[in-house]
Amino acid sequence: MHTIALNDLSRSNAERDAVKAAILRVVDSGWYIHGPEVQHFEEEFAHYCGANHAIGVANGTDAIELGLRALDVGAGDEVVVAANAGMYATTALRAIGALAVFADIDDEHLIIDADAAEAAITTRTKAIVVTHLYGRMGDMTRFRELADRRGIALFEDCAQAHGARHAGHCAGAWGDAASFSFYPTKNLGALGDGGMVTAKRETTAQRVKRLRQYGWEKKYVVIDGPARNSRLDEMQAAILRVKLPFLDGWNARRREIARCYAGVTHERIRHPDIEGADYVAHLYVVRTSARESLRKHLRDSGVACEVHYPLLDTQQPALRTSSAAKTPLPVSERAVQEILSLPCFPELSDAEVMRVCDAIAAWKP
Ligand SMILES: *Cc1c(COP(=O)(O)O)cnc(C)c1O
Repeated sequence: MHTIALNDLSRSNAERDAVKAAILRVVDSGWYIHGPEVQHFEEEFAHYCGANHAIGVANGTDAIELGLRALDVGAGDEVVVAANAGMYATTALRAIGALAVFADIDDEHLIIDADAAEAAITTRTKAIVVTHLYGRMGDMTRFRELADRRGIALFEDCAQAHGARHAGHCAGAWGDAASFSFYPTKNLGALGDGGMVTAKRETTAQRVKRLRQYGWEKKYVVIDGPARNSRLDEMQAAILRVKLPFLDGWNARRREIARCYAGVTHERIRHPDIEGADYVAHLYVVRTSARESLRKHLRDSGVACEVHYPLLDTQQPALRTSSAAKTPLPVSERAVQEILSLPCFPELSDAEVMRVCDAIAAWKP
């Protein structure tokens, strides 16, 4: 019996011929950086998200960094973030020289808690980052109201939430700016690295366009910074254009798999909330106080599993002596001991999904 992988990218073959044709189109075009594919993909992605602007960049972490810089976050500014979201936003803030101020998460969705976020705001706070973790969106109606009332910027990290919708608006359309990653395992993945910033205002979009390319206003004329070289290339843009029309269908299949898992009741397992269009099942994360036992049982049953993420940002060796790392985060600290991700990707077969369900049901802690 084969082991069911957490993810198997070699199976995403539905659009294989179209991807090959797109790659050849770019090869033959002789135009490999910032050409028509990137421009079209930016337009198509902005349209898909209902965002005013979309600007391609090299990856999802750069998208956070450049998006926040474009919102005027600079060295010494404070930005409120969750500590359980894989260190990506914190990495971007460290590159800027801004200070991550950690706020606890809500126990139901494991996303930054609005009350905790508000309590973390000081006179130095420039922005809140809401990471739509595991494919579940934060309560953006609430965060939008909070950011507007307190006069700070709202930033969404949508790397796990392509296509998720809250109150009729997509992830990426709520924030003053938002970031996406097209890392191959994301709900919309490239065949390499890629990222996108979406922006509410034209001025923010123009700044990201400058910051992703040396601070240029036009070729060789630098008017902005500190800037970077962080470009989405033509090849990845062309591939992503082929894949974008499949995204809603893939998300529907992810939800279907999540529904099967959620149907398995087990007294020691807490399932995630899978209801609503604001969940696109990027990861299916269960919680249990007996995680090591469940992990071993699944492995022995031929089901891969993984922890996203095993360390809070505040527990990272590079950060744990910093003063920001001393904030008590009781909900985050408990959840990080209990979470376990099960295989959840669109190409899983029904038989494999059943095998995962049977394995969960058979667990005797
Ligand atoms: C993957 C991911 C990122 C980073 O994306 P890269 O393209 O790998 O830089 C950022 N935030 C979250 C929540 C992610 O899952």
